[in-house]
Amino acid sequence: MNENAKNRSAGSAQRPDGGAIGAPCPHALLITIDTEGDNLWSTPETITTRNSAFLGRFQSLCEKYGLKPTWLTNWEMARCPVFRELASDAVARGAAEIGMHLHAWNTPPLEPLTEDDFLHQPLLIHYPVALVREKIARLTDLLEDTFEAKMVSHRAGRWGLDETYARLLEHRGYLVDCTVTPHVSWRSETGDTDFRGCDYTSFPGHAYLLDLDDIRRPGCSALLEIPMSIVPGPDPLIARVLRRIGRKSRPLHRFADRFFPPQFWFRPNRHNGHALREFLGRDSVAQAGYLQFMMHSSELMPGGSPRFPTEKSIERLYETLEELFAAARTRFVGMTLAEYRRRFNTGHSESAQPAGTPAARSLA
Ligand SMILES: [Zn+2]
Repeated sequence: MNENAKNRSAGSAQRPDGGAIGAPCPHALLITIDTEGDNLWSTPETITTRNSAFLGRFQSLCEKYGLKPTWLTNWEMARCPVFRELASDAVARGAAEIGMHLHAWNTPPLEPLTEDDFLHQPLLIHYPVALVREKIARLTDLLEDTFEAKMVSHRAGRWGLDETYARLLEHRGYLVDCTVTPHVSWRSETGDTDFRGCDYTSFPGHAYLLDLDDIRRPGCSALLEIPMSIVPGPDPLIARVLRRIGRKSRPLHRFADRFFPPQFWFRPNRHNGHALREFLGRDSVAQAGYLQFMMHSSELMPGGSPRFPTEKSIERLYETLEELFAAARTRFVGMTLAEYRRRFNTGHSESAQPAGTPAARSLA
């Protein structure tokens, strides 16, 4: 009998996560999937959603280990009948959550920002504010009508968030954002200096209610930021030298990143099964009170991404995931983002915040 079952049979009072009141709060394992069209890294002119047929296997795997994925869903996937059926069923059974993931370049209203937005894939924060507001409204309406549920969780496309975007999300009723990638800067990701990515290197690595005037700081808005689980990698002199030389040589830069990764993400990349399992025991997880896993839905289909190009690579991915989720089973409790938000509200995420900070307060 597991601990939760023992508590139930003893008739003791319970927390929302199933643990007894007064018992140590187990860390949460949050599974987030950016649910979007096929291989968008290849910047296709026509976006397809064949990966929707491969997602049932992942949903079943999560359920096998008591985990609940949050499918952060974009425009084309919200309109895909195959995904709609899978997601509606999982939500109806309490086995998943649907949230919002916004790709600015193909979410209506379509008003081009560059000579080819499908090629350049600009961030939403680069569009005029009126368009930002309207795109958020159109996609939220589509998701809420499709899945007959209030949208409360969100991740920005291409990791692009700023104060204006966050304020509009809160205004629309969102309660969770998970766009922040601590220790990571996306500034050099885009060649065009007019459309630079965000720099999150000075952002917290734990959950915090956003200050909407400065999203680096904990504040008292209703929007809970749950940053990705990322820790800095080793940074020996040889790696710094290789990266410096590699500025003009992409293969050399890739070599340096492969053997001396500047950060470790809690995200499979075909080579990091051992590093993923090491995450489960990291001090940073104990401090944050949660682990946030992420993938793209297209990475679950053979050839749907550069990382997993073949059926064999997908089978190896599932072996890695089986080992990881089995190892996590006894130490973590599976939660959707909305469930974690509720736990934060009830004051059970105290380990996530240093005592006395504004973000440690619960909001009603
Ligand atoms: Zn995306």
